[in-house]
Amino acid sequence: MAENLREVRRRIDAAARAAGRDPAEVRLLAVSKTWPAEAVRVLAGLGQRDFAENRVQELSGKAAALADLPDLRWHLVGQLQRNKAAVVVRLGATVHSVDRASLVEALSRAAEREQREIGVFVQVDLGGPEGEIGARGGAEPADAPALADAVAAAPGLELRGLMAVAPRGADPAPAFARLAQLSARVRADHPGASGTSAGMSGDLEAAVAAGATVVRVGTALFGARPLASREETATDPVRSHESHQHHP
Ligand SMILES: *Cc1c(COP(=O)(O)O)cnc(C)c1O
Repeated sequence: MAENLREVRRRIDAAARAAGRDPAEVRLLAVSKTWPAEAVRVLAGLGQRDFAENRVQELSGKAAALADLPDLRWHLVGQLQRNKAAVVVRLGATVHSVDRASLVEALSRAAEREQREIGVFVQVDLGGPEGEIGARGGAEPADAPALADAVAAAPGLELRGLMAVAPRGADPAPAFARLAQLSARVRADHPGASGTSAGMSGDLEAAVAAGATVVRVGTALFGARPLASREETATDPVRSHESHQHHP
């Protein structure tokens, strides 16, 4: 795992330099979904601090198992139901997958109740390989600026920027370019929202080239996820594609 971490950091550094960017601008988020808490502990021991899950139950389970590591930062990158908003807020997790106004309200109410400031990315749907909407989750691009406004105005929430998953099976560059354009538009109204969460194991270079400040990497750090857990979540649009993915 130490070697994987070094290699991922090397890839981020190389991509940032190639784009004329400071590698320190790009934060690595380790996506530990399906891996046991002990795998997170190993990576934390190597200096990694930011970890992401895509299911609330797995997030709270791992956070509890690793409560003795108080300097870990948790992130949610998967779908969130309104009734689970309070659980995520109590963990102080950054939410990368806010895609509708009702969720903004639920998170804000919970954040106010818990007196916490929660970081939020608005997830944008960049479409499938043919540009179809609904393939990978997220708000429609046309709706993203208004949703970002709602987050910025919501008590207890701090707008970090936009998040997206590139269409699978297509060149990610045009999709990330559209995300960068949309991010610039949101940033014009909300200068503090300087983040862009984009790029995974297979496309982090393209994301960094397009300005990503957070890359979400699972496979390249932890290895290929167990097949059983991938099939079990086949209804999840992000994960159901993973059986087609090649793993190192
Ligand atoms: C699983 C997941 C990742 C990490 O994907 P890898 O290809 O394993 O690096 C990133 N973002 C989201 C939203 C995910 O669900």
